[in-house]
Amino acid sequence: MKRCKGIYLSHRKHTAGAETERLPLPATVILPMSMHMGAPCRPMVAVGDSVMVGQQIGETTEAFSAPIHASVSGKVTAIQEHLCANGTKCPAVVIESDGNQTIHPACQPKELHTKEALIEAARNSGCVGLGGAGFPTHIKLSAQKPMDMLVVNAAECEPYLTSDCRQMMESTADCIAGIVMIMKLMSIARCRIGVENNKPAAIRRLAEACREHPEIEVIPLSSMYPQGAEKVLIYHTTGRVITEGTLPADHGVLLLNISTCAFLYQYTQTGIPLVERRVTVDGTAVRKPCNLLVPISTPVRLLLEYAEYDAAQMKRLLSGGPMMGLPLYSVDTPICKPNNGLLAMKELPAHKQTACIRCGRCMRACPMQLMPMALERAYAQKDRKALERYRVMLCMNCGCCSYVCPASRPLAATNQLAKSLLSGNERSNDL
Ligand code: SF4
Ligand code: SF4
Repeated sequence: MKRCKGIYLSHRKHTAGAETERLPLPATVILPMSMHMGAPCRPMVAVGDSVMVGQQIGETTEAFSAPIHASVSGKVTAIQEHLCANGTKCPAVVIESDGNQTIHPACQPKELHTKEALIEAARNSGCVGLGGAGFPTHIKLSAQKPMDMLVVNAAECEPYLTSDCRQMMESTADCIAGIVMIMKLMSIARCRIGVENNKPAAIRRLAEACREHPEIEVIPLSSMYPQGAEKVLIYHTTGRVITEGTLPADHGVLLLNISTCAFLYQYTQTGIPLVERRVTVDGTAVRKPCNLLVPISTPVRLLLEYAEYDAAQMKRLLSGGPMMGLPLYSVDTPICKPNNGLLAMKELPAHKQTACIRCGRCMRACPMQLMPMALERAYAQKDRKALERYRVMLCMNCGCCSYVCPASRPLAATNQLAKSLLSGNERSNDL
């Protein structure tokens, strides 16, 4: 089988061997009503209400969304406007913690016997993809296509990030129990777990834990970025090609992140919805890189302080990895459900942007076999036909092209603008 293209990056997995620590409880959390892909929620509580951990505080009637639950017990002190990382605004519920972490009585273990019950449980738990994308999990499970293969994304290909790695090391049994439960309820016969080979201990543990399950295979993959991208991972674990305009379900594949599988199993055991998550905190401005378990909506500042960041030296703060992470403009931003990492970086070396020298490196690096330099030209001319011909909608903004370009062209960012142009949501070009 041919391999998808990509790039080999320095892994910088400094925290791979560090056990997850629980961050001291924050005094206040700010829960945005939009922390997933899809429609935002409406607050179900008012100022002055008392709430408990796991109590639903955000609701929606939209299918493509996920409810939101209180991550601390305490009192609602404000409902305020919140500026999300993508520039949109939504309401947010502010809760002052009482320090007790009292669990809501509705949080009870669940027995699931059908696919419908699993879908309902995934929705009620507020589960979204924990690998960074934030896609509501119940939507993936609801696909009306016959699926025969579960592909589990345990690649974690972005440098620095190790939250999935620690999940595999610390909750191996929950990962496999979640996979077995999902396969049984979804009537899926086979599973392939794709893990990059820079996590040998996690590979060993997973292989050991699924010795009794020949239907589950652990597939070590080369440590190449972006090994964890949907199309790349499915191709490298199954040989199936997710063609333009189709979804994994159209090819019989259900794709889930390893931490999502473990969470769904833990939810059936405790009934506690998605109210906390593991976050890797690292970067050149951090003295004590670590993995922290934090209530959802804990302010980023507390994680950075725990990791002993240097506020004066920090010039860039990212939510996620260095390749696809989103810039954060305030340390008061809350940790949202998909946030798997925080990177605090010192000044980056400045590269001067120059004209394209037609070296073809961007094309050779692109896992989707696109021609980024041609796409850049087409976008500069606002040539929609050429953008379609060069299949810009296949671009997944992995950043490989920009990374390898000796002329420092902002190719991935241009493709994002080009996709907006084609989909009618054009933004100004301020690159
Ligand atoms: S950002 Fe898009 S064009 Fe660039 S390498 Fe990734 S998929 Fe290819
Ligand atoms: S890598 Fe940069 S310089 Fe080389 S062809 Fe692509 S855009 Fe041009």
